[in-house]
This record gives sequence, C-alpha cells and structure tokens, in this order.
Amino acid sequence: MSAMNIPKSSFPRIIIIGGGFAGIALAKKLSKKEVQVLLIDKNNYHTFQPLLYQVSTGGLEPDSIAYPIRKVLKDYPNFFFRLANVEEIVPEKKEIITNIGAIHYDYLVLATGSETNFFGNTEIEKNGMEMKSIPQSLNLRSLILENFEQALLTDDLHQRDALMNFVIVGGGPTGVELAGALAEIKKGILPKDYPDLDTRRVQINLIQSGDRILKEMSEKASKKAEDFLENLGVQVWKNVRVKSYDGKLVSTETELSFEAATLIWAAGVKGAAIKGLDAKELLIRGNRVRVNEFNQVIGFNEIFAVGDIAGMESEEFPCGHPMMAQPAIQQGRNLGENLVKLLQQKPMQPFIYKDKGSMATVGRNKAVVDLKNFKFQGVYAWFVWMFVHLFFLIGFRNRMVVFVNWVYNYIRFDREARLIIRPYKRDYTRFKD
Ligand SMILES: Cc1cc2nc3c(=O)[nH]c(=O)nc-3n(C[C@H](O)[C@H](O)[C@H](O)COP(=O)(O)OP(=O)(O)OC[C@H]3O[C@@H](n4cnc5c(N)ncnc54)[C@H](O)[C@@H]3O)c2cc1C
Repeated sequence: MSAMNIPKSSFPRIIIIGGGFAGIALAKKLSKKEVQVLLIDKNNYHTFQPLLYQVSTGGLEPDSIAYPIRKVLKDYPNFFFRLANVEEIVPEKKEIITNIGAIHYDYLVLATGSETNFFGNTEIEKNGMEMKSIPQSLNLRSLILENFEQALLTDDLHQRDALMNFVIVGGGPTGVELAGALAEIKKGILPKDYPDLDTRRVQINLIQSGDRILKEMSEKASKKAEDFLENLGVQVWKNVRVKSYDGKLVSTETELSFEAATLIWAAGVKGAAIKGLDAKELLIRGNRVRVNEFNQVIGFNEIFAVGDIAGMESEEFPCGHPMMAQPAIQQGRNLGENLVKLLQQKPMQPFIYKDKGSMATVGRNKAVVDLKNFKFQGVYAWFVWMFVHLFFLIGFRNRMVVFVNWVYNYIRFDREARLIIRPYKRDYTRFKD
C-alpha cells in the first residue's frame, strides 16, 4: 500500500491529475481497460466553467454546474479518486508529491487546466476579481450584491457611482457573457430590488485591448455581439489596455480611467503547470507544457498532457489548440485510446482537432454562433447556445436543474440566486476618502 492507500495491482498504474473536461474524458475511455487509474483533483467535483458567469450573476446555483468526480468513476473497476493537491512531479523517480503523500506512477497524465493570467501585474491580482472556479464566482456574486447594499448607505454621489461601476477587462467570451448578464440585472432586477437607489447610474464597462471583442470568432460575430452589448447599455472600450487598479481607480494606458469598486479580470489564462515539469524549456507560450502529436510531453515517454495545459504546436495551431472545452475533451478521448494502444505495443494515433465551432451569448435571446460553414446570430443562436451547454453539462440532475432555472428566469425575468451566503470581505473604507 502507498501513502494514499492505493493497493498494488498487476495492471500498470495511470495517474491523471485533474478531473476537468480532459481528465474526465480520458478516464471514461479507460473505464474497462486493464489498467489501474488514480484520478487526483484538489476539488471533489468537476466544474462546468462555461456557466460560471451565471453563478456570479445569480442566474444559477453553484451546485448545478458542479458534479462529484467520485460519481463519474463509481462503476469503473480499478479506479481510485483522491482529493489532493499535486505539488510536485519527480520524473526521475516516476513519482508525484501531493499534500497527502507521494505515489509512484507507470504513466502520468497532466490535465490540470489553466489559471488566471495577470501577466505579472500583482496589483491587479490583489485588487481585482477572477472567475476561474466556483468559490471565485461566489466571491464575485457576493461582492456585486454587497456593492449595492453599500451604495444604499452613502449619499455621496461620487462614491455611490464608484460602487455601482463594474469594469470587466477582457473582451473574450467570458467578459462578453458576464457584461451581458450584468446588463440584464441592471435592467430587470435592480430597479425592483433597490427602488430607493437610482440604478440607472449603474455602469458596465467592458475593456478590450484589441480592436474587436470575441477576436477568436468571425468579424460578423464580433460586430453583432458589440451591437447587442451596446443596446443593453454596456460601454465597450476597444484598443484600451488596463495598466493598474488599486481597488478604487482603474488606470489605462490611454487617458481613460474609471473609479470602480469592482474590476473583473477576464483578460487571459495560462497553463497550470506543476513544479518538476515547469522548467522554461518544457513550456510553450501561455505556460503550457510542450507535447508531441500524441500528447506526450517532449522528453518524457511516460508523461502526457491534455487540455488547456497541453501545448501542441503545429502549423495550423502555432500556439497550441484553443484553451476551450472541445480540444480538452477530444484530447482526453484520443489519449485514452492511445494509452491502450501503447500498452498493447501498437502505434498511437496523432491527435487531430475537429473544430465544432464557437459561440457566446450576450443575454436573453441574444447569442452569436460560428460554425464551420454557417454563422448566425440572434434568437436562434441563443437556443443553440443553450442546447449545447445543456448537452455538455455532466449529470442528468444538473441538466434538469439548469433547464428549469433557465425557463423560470426567462418567464419571470428573474435571477433568484442573488444571495450573499458567504460574504466577500471588501475594505470599503477606501471609498470614503
Ligand atoms: C469563465 C470561463 C468560461 C469559459 N467558457 C467556455 C466556453 O463557453 N466554451 C469553451 O469551450 N470553453 C470555455 N472555457 C474554457 C474551458 O472551461 C477550458 O478550456 C476547459 O475547462 C479546459 O479543460 P481542462 O480539462 O484542460 O481543465 P479544467 O476543466 O480546468 O480542469 C482542470 C482540473 O485540474 C484540477 N487541478 C489543477 N491543478 C491541480 C493540482 N495541482 N492538483 C490537483 N488538481 C489540480 C482542477 O481542480 C480542475 O478540476 C471557459 C473557461 C472559463 C474560466
């Protein structure tokens, strides 16, 4: 027995670090194979990150976008799950070190995903909000609501405006979807909840460093999403780069600045590399571990990486595949088949990404969808967006809960999860200066 109480087995031991899209897809492929699988995650649940913004804005309860990893694995023989944080990889010993002990592997798969990239700006990291996990989304939900409660307590208009000013940095799908959801709250919820506050003064500023939002999508999608946002009252600032944020003042590299109690940083992610495999020469741009076409980490025959953490450079994808759910799922599945082939000493199949398109929603009846040969926007796109997200959510119960919530919210123009359950401790004294 190892420190983690994993029994010895005659089958080779495959350790998967991370139960995200890639790790789960891989585990499913290995379910009935002659291997012992240990899946390790620092959370005991899988997070459906594309709907985090709905948790942050009170549209969904957090439980409906999380799924217990143990339940995914429950019928798989020779599968083990351990709740642990992997702190180091020691390839020379074929061992990983975690906060609950060390363990040996025959094959190791990194499926650790990504983390927020502040590009070294420690001030923004300290004062800004991020939205990469459920606890972070709950922090944001609390902060948004606490800001309105605070705004009610002051009669200084300047202060009140700052408390009701939301600055979102990053015009990718996350920033766009969050801005749209906040705009809908401003329109449909705040006037009812805060009749004694002039909520018309609420500002939602979306800042993009490039010349268009949703830059990974078609120009038509970008333009339409911008129109949707502006019609909802969101201020979209393009070609503006945020320089600093001290918790009160957002400064940019232009003359533009904002006094805001909330800055949400959605301007980038980087691979969640782990000590021992994080040397500069092992990584490509974006902190992703360099892998070959079989997702094998260059220089290590027994170590693989899939999903956001995997940096597979090719002519078509010189910076690796997009850090999105589909490449992660497809790489996980392909690696599952390849690991079986490897054990049977058969040649592995290179990974070929099948781009199924991309989409983003801006709010009620508004979405943009880019498929390979067909691009469309508006209400039809919104239904497609909802269907695809329901389809990829793990768990029948989650699908039902999300579906019922969406129908309810649609009919009632409501978001009932606007609850401050775990207050976010923000120092408001800085707004009293
Ligand atoms: C707000 C937001 C919105 C998004 N919207 C979309 C969208 O609309 N469409 C889309 O395709 N993609 C979207 N994405 C991106 C998508 O979620 C990711 O590309 C996808 O989750 C990557 O899958 P993964 O398996 O590589 O990593 P993840 O799903 O992030 O899973 C990584 C897992 O590894 C675990 N882990 C990490 N480090 C350790 C460690 N040291 N020890 C133990 N466990 C560890 C984590 O807890 C996590 O469970 C969005 C992401 C965010 C943050």
